[in-house]
Amino acid sequence: MERLIIIGSGPAGVSAALYAVRAGIKTTVVSRGAGALEKTEKIENYYGFPEIISGKELHERGIAGAKRLGVEFLTDEVVSVEKSDAFYVKTPDKLLAADALILATGVSKLAPEIQGLEEFEGRGVSYCAICDGFFFKERRVAVLGTGENAINEINELKNITSDITLLTNGDEITAEFPDWVNIISDEIEAVRGTGKISSVSFKNGQTISLDGLFIAYKTAGSTALAKKLGAKTDGRFIWTDEEMNTNISGLFAAGDCRGGLLQISKAVYDGAAAGTSAVKYLKK
Ligand SMILES: Cc1cc2nc3c(=O)[nH]c(=O)nc-3n(C[C@H](O)[C@H](O)[C@H](O)COP(=O)(O)OP(=O)(O)OC[C@H]3O[C@@H](n4cnc5c(N)ncnc54)[C@H](O)[C@@H]3O)c2cc1C
Repeated sequence: MERLIIIGSGPAGVSAALYAVRAGIKTTVVSRGAGALEKTEKIENYYGFPEIISGKELHERGIAGAKRLGVEFLTDEVVSVEKSDAFYVKTPDKLLAADALILATGVSKLAPEIQGLEEFEGRGVSYCAICDGFFFKERRVAVLGTGENAINEINELKNITSDITLLTNGDEITAEFPDWVNIISDEIEAVRGTGKISSVSFKNGQTISLDGLFIAYKTAGSTALAKKLGAKTDGRFIWTDEEMNTNISGLFAAGDCRGGLLQISKAVYDGAAAGTSAVKYLKK
């Protein structure tokens, strides 16, 4: 039986799951929680609810409906994705395989506002250790992050170089890092270099020299995951055609992560279209 994994249990992910499972596809939704709906207290512009409904209730109702049809839900954080003979979805302690993948992870901040970060993207600043780590063999690298996402990138880098520093940019650490990792928790002022990155300066006046900086900020968002698979992105958003196909065969995106109207109704539409396209792809 064909296997579909959907990352995200918001309106886009759950809507995609409904279309896939009803077409006979084994569908698993991996999600770390409710996403944007968690912060939505009152919804009064969505079809079919004469009374005000909370985001939490809408999320729970969506999941209950999908479970009734046989969708499997897994509560976990996705820290990486890869494509070889299949799509592989990595959580801190699991590796899941699928024949097709839908990214429905909502919109998230890719990185904190740090001077120079964007400028050096592709010139020392990377969002994917497994893709770009190779270029930093025995070089001095840092990972910007605080949680499981950052641990994953450090684990990818440790076979390439032993000089790895974690930069938290003043944020609280939320996972247990190996004790050999050097940690700098000061706030970053700027990423500096000429042509390519050569150092990072901190607000306390300190500077460290660096050859590479890997961004693994908070949870891996859609664009970070899409980049790992080589999918086309535009700023915070993933590029798709009207049928939610990305430029990578078998990879689809739906909802806020592809931009446009950041609303539930549009996320539900995107999910339906992505689910339908994934079914078409898997049944081919
Ligand atoms: C405060 C607020 C109020 C709003 N009010 C309204 C309103 O009144 N009406 C309206 O139409 N819209 C409203 N919206 C917008 C609406 O909530 C979003 O457009 C909609 O939820 C987008 O759906 P989505 O499925 O694309 O993403 P989301 O609902 O954000 O879902 C993203 C999913 O991805 C998961 N995820 C992300 N990264 C990972 C990872 N690495 N591993 C595992 N899981 C991951 C999250 O846990 C979540 O399940 C509001 C948004 C906010 C923030």
